Amino acid sequence: MSETAYNNATQSYVIAPPAMAVLPVEGCDRLFPVNRIFCIGRNYAAHAVEMGHDPDKEPPFFFLKHPSNLSVGEDFPYPTQTNDVHHEIEMVVALAKGGTDISVEDALDHVFGYGVGLDMTRRDLQGEAKKLGRPWEVGKSFEKSAPCGPLVPASRIGHPAGGAVTLDVNSERRQSGDLNQMLWKVPEMITILSQYFELQPGDLIMSGTPAGVGPIERGDVIHGKVTGVGEITVKVV
Ligand code: MN
Repeated sequence: MSETAYNNATQSYVIAPPAMAVLPVEGCDRLFPVNRIFCIGRNYAAHAVEMGHDPDKEPPFFFLKHPSNLSVGEDFPYPTQTNDVHHEIEMVVALAKGGTDISVEDALDHVFGYGVGLDMTRRDLQGEAKKLGRPWEVGKSFEKSAPCGPLVPASRIGHPAGGAVTLDVNSERRQSGDLNQMLWKVPEMITILSQYFELQPGDLIMSGTPAGVGPIERGDVIHGKVTGVGEITVKVV
């Protein structure tokens, strides 16, 4: 019997294996297989302030969503055990190559492409977890908590360092920022993550949200856009 944690041979399973999470790639009939989803916290100063924190550039911190939390082209079902679900619009970075101790200069060579995602958050449960010093999963990593649009290859759009990041709810502007306001830029995020983890092809990074996060209700239509990358529309049901 194999000693690896992965089934590299052809052994069969005692239950049906979970499906691999995937994202579509714009203009391509092949899929992007998703490994992990890293998310950076408080990466825009104005959002840090609205959450009650210092706007200064502190060392970044990360949490994860589970790949099975992704949802593509589907409605967002209002989740259980919460009365305060917030939208967070974020640019998603998709890695084609992994590694450890990746230099800032080499970091962008590891990127496959970019997308637009929503870091949907049970804010009440996250707030309680913060207060009690507990982990954030119940607030951040629930089913369909990561709606995401198709990835666009960097070979097509380059590596966007600036561009408006906006989110409307029912055509009313809620979030507005610019990629150039990120405290930690994409190459720096990759470098720092690669010092803590061995990054893998298929890893995603949700790059943080600008100010203006707020609650959504059933029936709302959320429309997010990252100029130069793409758009996403999600209905809350
Ligand atoms: Mn977020």
